[in-house]
Amino acid sequence: MAPLLTDRQRERREAFAALAARVVAPAAAAWDRDQRIADEAIAALADAGLLGCVLPRELGGLGEDVVTFGLLNEALGRHSSAFTGVLTVQTMVGSALAKWGTDAQRRAWLPKLARGETIAAFALTEPGCGSDLGALALRFVPDRGGDAYVVTGRKKWITCAQRAGVFLAFGRLDDGRPIAALVPRDTPGLAVEPIVDLMGFRAAGLGQLVFDGAVVPATNVVGKPGFALTHVAPVGLQYGRISTACSALGLLRGCVEESGAWASARPIGGRPAADLGMVRTLVARMGADLAAASFLCHDACRAEDERVPEAFEKVLTAKYFVSRAAVRAASDAVQVHGAIGCSAESPVSRFYRDAKILEIIEGTTQVHEELLGRMIAGRYARH
Ligand SMILES: Cc1cc2nc3c(=O)[nH]c(=O)nc-3n(C[C@H](O)[C@H](O)[C@H](O)COP(=O)(O)OP(=O)(O)OC[C@H]3O[C@@H](n4cnc5c(N)ncnc54)[C@H](O)[C@@H]3O)c2cc1C
Repeated sequence: MAPLLTDRQRERREAFAALAARVVAPAAAAWDRDQRIADEAIAALADAGLLGCVLPRELGGLGEDVVTFGLLNEALGRHSSAFTGVLTVQTMVGSALAKWGTDAQRRAWLPKLARGETIAAFALTEPGCGSDLGALALRFVPDRGGDAYVVTGRKKWITCAQRAGVFLAFGRLDDGRPIAALVPRDTPGLAVEPIVDLMGFRAAGLGQLVFDGAVVPATNVVGKPGFALTHVAPVGLQYGRISTACSALGLLRGCVEESGAWASARPIGGRPAADLGMVRTLVARMGADLAAASFLCHDACRAEDERVPEAFEKVLTAKYFVSRAAVRAASDAVQVHGAIGCSAESPVSRFYRDAKILEIIEGTTQVHEELLGRMIAGRYARH
């Protein structure tokens, strides 16, 4: 996103790239292999205040603009999508809480999230409910004269569940109204089961949450009951899409840089592979996608900073385009590398596995097409 940045954003970009090169790049392959991010790496992010990048200053955050948040995701995503996932979900919960939490909830949780003392996870998906939120089934039954809820059901595919100290869990009351609440990990009646051996995002610590009569105080409900899917979740999901789009931009950049370097060094028939027209085609395609993706991400982040009504569509467009471009680029990057691209010796094999995940999380490609297609066709409808 370099061409459109302020001087301060450029400085932050340099600092993020340096942090990512020092903390993420040397370790990302090992985290992927071990299916776990090292605690010190998350501590490094927390120590720099970056887990609270966009959270308000008065509540311990850095109060950075969304463009700067995008740059951070791009820098981390350049080396590890799974690591960026920690920032994604921490920001999804933090932003939803900053907007819809009570003063007491904001004061109790946001400084801890910003400092990384508590890692949060966004628990929306269930075994029977992914894209179709109408099928949301986690049950909240009022208890103790309305002072608490008894929660029963399951959440699945929850990023950072293995590490999180608190979950923002979405469910329904018996009358069908959607509800969201903060559920601390140590709540009796809540068990976390690790999900392992994923294709990509292997270090992101996914888990399944099993609620078996977990008692959650009514003071932990975020936003008004009935508004969880129309107000609370959309704030988190908007940041989730921004984070994912910019993380995908980082992965795309990684594909271009790794492919350019490899093709320039690998001799084929006495000349570098980059001299072959067909290899140049592959690199040209991903390079052009990178340039376009960079502008779309900047446009989306800036629209969010300016709080313009078009921000929603711009963020959808960025997430849709860049995640798909990342999948194409990762496939072409493996092709450029040949056999070494199929092995752990090159990061592009990991990029290839991670890229596909970016098309599924925060709304699948098809869900984006459904929404964008409707908006774009509607705009040009002749009445
Ligand atoms: C690595 C990883 C991390 C994740 N992290 C989290 C997390 O932290 N929190 C969380 O809550 N969830 C998380 N998820 C879950 C993720 O959000 C869901 O997988 C996603 O929303 C899709 O839901 P689903 O898997 O049930 O697929 P389904 O919704 O069952 O979709 C199956 C297929 O149908 C298509 N489809 C669905 N609806 C439509 C439609 N209306 N029109 C056209 N096609 C459609 C989809 O595009 C897809 O191709 C994660 C998933 C993964 C893989």
